[in-house]
Amino acid sequence: MRWNNNVEKSKAITTKDTKDHEGKDPTMSVAHARACVLATVAPLVLCATVLLSAPSDQKRISIYSAAANFTLSVLDREHRDYVSLLEVLEPLGRVTAKTDGSRWKFRYNNVEGEFNAGKTRARVQGHDVDLPANFLVENGRGLVPLNSLPVLLPRFLGGPVTLNETARRLFVGNVGVHFTAQVKANPPTLVIDFSSPVNPMIATEPGKLRMVFTHEPIVPPGSQTLTFDNKTIPSASYQEENGAVEIAVSGSVPLFASFGNDGRTITVTAAPQTAAQVAARTPQPQLNLSAITSPTQSATYLPSVSGGGAATYFAVVDASHGGEERGAALSDQLSEKDVTLAFARKLRQELESRGVSTLVLREGDTTLSLDQRANLANAAHPAIYICLHAASQGTGVRLYGSMLPSGGESRGPFLDWDTAQSAFAPASQTVETSVIAELQKKQISVRTLIAPLRPLNNITAAALAVEIAPPEAGISELNSPGYQQLITEAIATGMVAAREKLDTPR
Ligand SMILES: [Zn+2]
Repeated sequence: MRWNNNVEKSKAITTKDTKDHEGKDPTMSVAHARACVLATVAPLVLCATVLLSAPSDQKRISIYSAAANFTLSVLDREHRDYVSLLEVLEPLGRVTAKTDGSRWKFRYNNVEGEFNAGKTRARVQGHDVDLPANFLVENGRGLVPLNSLPVLLPRFLGGPVTLNETARRLFVGNVGVHFTAQVKANPPTLVIDFSSPVNPMIATEPGKLRMVFTHEPIVPPGSQTLTFDNKTIPSASYQEENGAVEIAVSGSVPLFASFGNDGRTITVTAAPQTAAQVAARTPQPQLNLSAITSPTQSATYLPSVSGGGAATYFAVVDASHGGEERGAALSDQLSEKDVTLAFARKLRQELESRGVSTLVLREGDTTLSLDQRANLANAAHPAIYICLHAASQGTGVRLYGSMLPSGGESRGPFLDWDTAQSAFAPASQTVETSVIAELQKKQISVRTLIAPLRPLNNITAAALAVEIAPPEAGISELNSPGYQQLITEAIATGMVAAREKLDTPR
């Protein structure tokens, strides 16, 4: 599956210490104002399978934001999809509307808009906006074309909006729930971990268990089909349609889903009948539509700006680069993207052996944009975010803290994207100090730098970028398990040591 990639073209940092990255590494890049926060979800091929979540003839759009997740009807007008603008914005703030002849005046919080029935030209806060099709008024209700929302909404909300038009899913600002799936062999069990609680409808039928998510801003996985090396649970698929996401798990026996971890984990196993009983029985579709245990509606909220008191000590490790983006060519054989992934996996091992749950942002050779990385990380609400780079020059480790541009302010439902890190800067400093101490204990040379790095500036957690250079023995050792062990042990110990300080109220 293709991900639309928002990797930016921007200037590389010009300090000597990032020589490896000059001109070829967009991750180590200078932050600047951005128009678009969310990773655009990839256009999806419409699938033949009808989602179970709703009467299939009713067109709907799901809207996800920090303030609310909700679903609205989509209207067919003039052979196009339309929505009521008031209904879109009402859950997000104060709205008023009045009709004046053919003019329709609309106000969201302090932002004024003026629309004209039968016209494409509108004005928002004194600026012209051109809609892709006519504005319509019906019974005092102003209707706008669905595909005008990515242009229109940012004018009212003061922040970015991403629309997946094919699936009719709209993401306002920095929201997203991601998931990982893995199968364990004995007994065959599929474990799906979500970054926030979820509450899907679940239905089973012979050979399949379907989960349909309407209120969760689930972000597509790297691949739409996951195959597992398991006869009982051979595969799972992901699709989006009509404002909903469906994850379908195929099974050679009837499957059964259960929830754990406050709705963050769904475990799929063979239903509690023996395979023999199942085989003897006439297969009957058992439609099992039920809203599941999790009492929380699964809104993804931005972390509060205080930054303290994460409920669990959870780390996100970001293996920089990947997929089409190789990072630096460290040697003829060695791509930075492979080295960062190896270090990331090792670091997860070290953290988990110290009791810290860890999410590695990419499990394989996947292309992820900087925005996608920041969104995935923020949605997971970690205590610490750490991103890994590798370099061919110099030795030891360089640590980068963020350098924040001044003047960012939060507006409406948004945190300012480029200064999202600012409230967490003291926590980031704490982690950095702690990691430096552990690296020095192991005689690893450490340098610290401050740079306006993305995605560090966009992370709403303690955040640190680590660039790993080879040991004295030379570049080939960069990929050796011994060196990876040495470095990741020190970083993990430092991250754990920072825990007490982060937990202490400031
Ligand atoms: Zn890099």
